[in-house]
Amino acid sequence: MNLAGELILKPGKERSLLRRHPWVYDTAVARVTGKPASGATMAVRSASGAWLAWAAFSPSSTLRARCWSFVEADVIDAAWISARVKAAVQRRDHLAPATNATRLVFGEADQLPGLVVDRYADQLVMQCQAAGVEAQRAAIIEALVTATGCGNVYDRSDSATRKREGLEPSHGVARGAEPAERIAVHEHGVHYAVDVRRGHKTGFYVDQRDNRALARALVQRLRTTGVAAPRALNCFCYTGGFSLALAAGGAGSVLSIDSSAEALALAAHNADLNGQASVHAWRNADVFEALRALKAEAVAPFDLIVLDPPKFASTHHHVDRAARAYKDIALNALRLLAPGGYLMTFSCSGAIDVDLFQKIIAGAVIDARVDCQMLKRLAAGEDHPLLMTHPEGEYLKGILLQRL
Ligand code: SAH
Repeated sequence: MNLAGELILKPGKERSLLRRHPWVYDTAVARVTGKPASGATMAVRSASGAWLAWAAFSPSSTLRARCWSFVEADVIDAAWISARVKAAVQRRDHLAPATNATRLVFGEADQLPGLVVDRYADQLVMQCQAAGVEAQRAAIIEALVTATGCGNVYDRSDSATRKREGLEPSHGVARGAEPAERIAVHEHGVHYAVDVRRGHKTGFYVDQRDNRALARALVQRLRTTGVAAPRALNCFCYTGGFSLALAAGGAGSVLSIDSSAEALALAAHNADLNGQASVHAWRNADVFEALRALKAEAVAPFDLIVLDPPKFASTHHHVDRAARAYKDIALNALRLLAPGGYLMTFSCSGAIDVDLFQKIIAGAVIDARVDCQMLKRLAAGEDHPLLMTHPEGEYLKGILLQRL
């Protein structure tokens, strides 16, 4: 391989790489040989000179390199990228009967560090969140088109992560035609319109697919256990992901709350697409305030409540404040939950692990002075796998509670 240089680690810093953890922090680096450009492929070596990995160099990030491969015989070129992309796409083939909105590539978990690709019908949306995948952009786009047969790739590389990598935001058509204003997708028979240009992340929260299906099944279960027209509340509803699933399960009414009028407009449009308009009520409000207001309004209790907020802790520094916020909404939701009702509560903060989240929610249950069973821990769908050697990849966690 035509290498731009080598990255030599400090003594002892080879240990995480020997365990195949794919990140090299700047503090682990003793020196860099040559004059590698941002994203260049380098050999990573221990202080004693032993080869450890092929990695992409990121000169301005504290995450100084991300490993492509721990196999010395690998050659990191377009053919290698193409094989990894193809394998990632094929691992999602089994989802096709359920939906045409899937994550095709999930960064480190798919051994393509920093690359996210979602598919919405025939539109691909990519995010290059690290210098390595940015440098391989042309090969990645070519590989995606070949692996999927989709000719349209939109770039939504506008995330904060790029700044840390010293990369400018990049937003626009990467291949093919300008995407439609609203792309029609389906998930378990429910239709959604996705705005890949202006929506969050790549447009839609595909990671919640299984949990939306569970919400729908819980409504059905409530109906078979004597709650004729379950009352559902969906907080932080965005474009109606859970709202529509709840209605599809036969909820008698669904109240959805979000602070974004734009998201609510698309949510209402999505409800119309599914002939559900009469079931839904939309409230443009701050959830922290709205939960208190609902209590003050003495509304009838809800049989199922979903709390799926944005990331409250962006780093470890924000964990305490985020914990208070997660507890606050859970406590106020529990005050609105009917006996026998379900609460699905989520956190997508990577800095809050699943055990801490469970403790936070237990604290809310104690303060609410109710008895609850935890029925299940919840996570992202199978198209968001976790690389076992990279626990940092786990971000979405949830808890399903039933009030006794
Ligand atoms: N559950 C959604 C995704 C939620 S994304 C789905 O499955 O598709 C988080 C949403 O919370 C965004 O739509 C954002 O507008 C909204 N939001 C953020 N802070 C809020 C607040 N304090 N009150 C109400 N909505 C908020």
